[in-house]
Amino acid sequence: MKYAILASGSSGNASLVWTERHCLVVEAGIPMRKLTAAKSIARCVLKPDAILVSHEHDDHAGYAAEASRYWHCPVLCSRETAPRFQKPHDVPWDLRTFAVGQGFTLPEWDLRIQTVAVPHVQGAVGFVITEGWEGGESNGQPKNSGSYAVEGDASSKTRSIAIFTDLGSVTDEIRAAVAQVHLLAIEADYSVGMMAENPEYPEQLKKRLMAGYGHLSNDAIENLLASQPWPNLKTVALIHGSRRNNLSVLAIAAARRGLGRNNVGVACGWENLPLVMEV
Ligand SMILES: [Zn+2]
Ligand SMILES: [Zn+2]
Repeated sequence: MKYAILASGSSGNASLVWTERHCLVVEAGIPMRKLTAAKSIARCVLKPDAILVSHEHDDHAGYAAEASRYWHCPVLCSRETAPRFQKPHDVPWDLRTFAVGQGFTLPEWDLRIQTVAVPHVQGAVGFVITEGWEGGESNGQPKNSGSYAVEGDASSKTRSIAIFTDLGSVTDEIRAAVAQVHLLAIEADYSVGMMAENPEYPEQLKKRLMAGYGHLSNDAIENLLASQPWPNLKTVALIHGSRRNNLSVLAIAAARRGLGRNNVGVACGWENLPLVMEV
């Protein structure tokens, strides 16, 4: 399974997850011209099967309807996010909704998608995408899983990628959902020190961004990574970094401190894109 970050940050997000046969676009917050160009540079030749949208904001959802019409594939989002796609002038080719926390597959897929609530805005989710899932749930009917753990032991063929951005804070539910993943793509939006000293940001805005439902800091990444053993983790991809309030070196150093070991790769996902990783 491959994961490619095509664009990342408050000016627009887009990534891909693909296997030999299936391809998911995760977020479509950049224009189609850029999205298709970055997709081909990442050497993904598959037509996407679906476009996953984490929440309603333009930097994640702004071009999803257009991408859905272009590729003739559905937009998948939470029920709370769906009204965003009901504007008469920008309707997706197909729109399917899930309940926050629901897990599902689509017909004939070898991928399972688990959605997990995040605090950022109402209906916002993160995704855990698992390949090689053998839960017998192949009829396309969405169904609650009750458990986020990847089934089977670490030597089984399952591989999973978690993509969590625009969190605000890390809940116990998120911690549990990502504990077994092989690749963790997670928001490292700002350095607390850089944000505090940034004269361009009014105090009110700083408070809102740091309030637990805005964005996630490097310190929060460090705490999350230090908080559990991560038995399967091979790569951490830091995404959605603020160009004004963060530096890749600071974010990577925080992640390294949190991990406390060197056998996990840490990549900055907002520079030198597209960035392609394999699990
Ligand atoms: Zn965002
Ligand atoms: Zn947002």
